[in-house]
Amino acid sequence: MRLLLVEDDERLARGMVASLEAAGFAVDLLTNGEDALRLADQEPYCAIVLDLGLPDMDGLDILSRLRARGATTPILILTARDMVDDRIDGLDRGADDYMAKPFDPRELESRIRALVRRSQGTPDPVLRIGKLVFDRSSRTVYLDGAVLDLRRRELAVLETLMGRPGKVVAKERLAAEVFNFDDAVTPNALEVYIGRLRRKLQPSGPAIRTIRGLGYMIETA
Ligand code: CA
Repeated sequence: MRLLLVEDDERLARGMVASLEAAGFAVDLLTNGEDALRLADQEPYCAIVLDLGLPDMDGLDILSRLRARGATTPILILTARDMVDDRIDGLDRGADDYMAKPFDPRELESRIRALVRRSQGTPDPVLRIGKLVFDRSSRTVYLDGAVLDLRRRELAVLETLMGRPGKVVAKERLAAEVFNFDDAVTPNALEVYIGRLRRKLQPSGPAIRTIRGLGYMIETA
């Protein structure tokens, strides 16, 4: 789950990136509006978290411009606690949700997860394929009732594939959803994660097929 965070308060932003990464998101941090407008459509972000008070631009204008050019990515705005007009204005300009500062990072994560589930048309927090169960709230995976020990990137790859059961996910797309700008990704990094997942899904989990020249697909039960 690739997330774009636009926040100019460096200290706050660093803390947010750490907690969001721990919650399973691959986060790109931008600190000004110009970069946000340039990059918001370039990667397959599952959501955008947008601070309204940015140094070069009003976040509300960024929001309007993204929506005007057809961006459908869920957007959660960050506002000051007493700025009720900003919150109303933001929602009316196309934001999907807001958080007032200061906020509890856990609530932010929950709200983002809810936005993403709704936008992807999978409101149930739990993904299931046969005996494989992915609880997206606790980020716990069960196979045949037992917890599977999966690393962060393995979880991200599996979550993306399980979100599209029986469909081919292109390699480039999968990589773009799982890694952020700062990840040093080698060409075969994905293959390594897929290989580990295949081993861990033995013997009763669904197969992950390689579709030559196209990408990967998790089989439905
Ligand atoms: Ca700010």
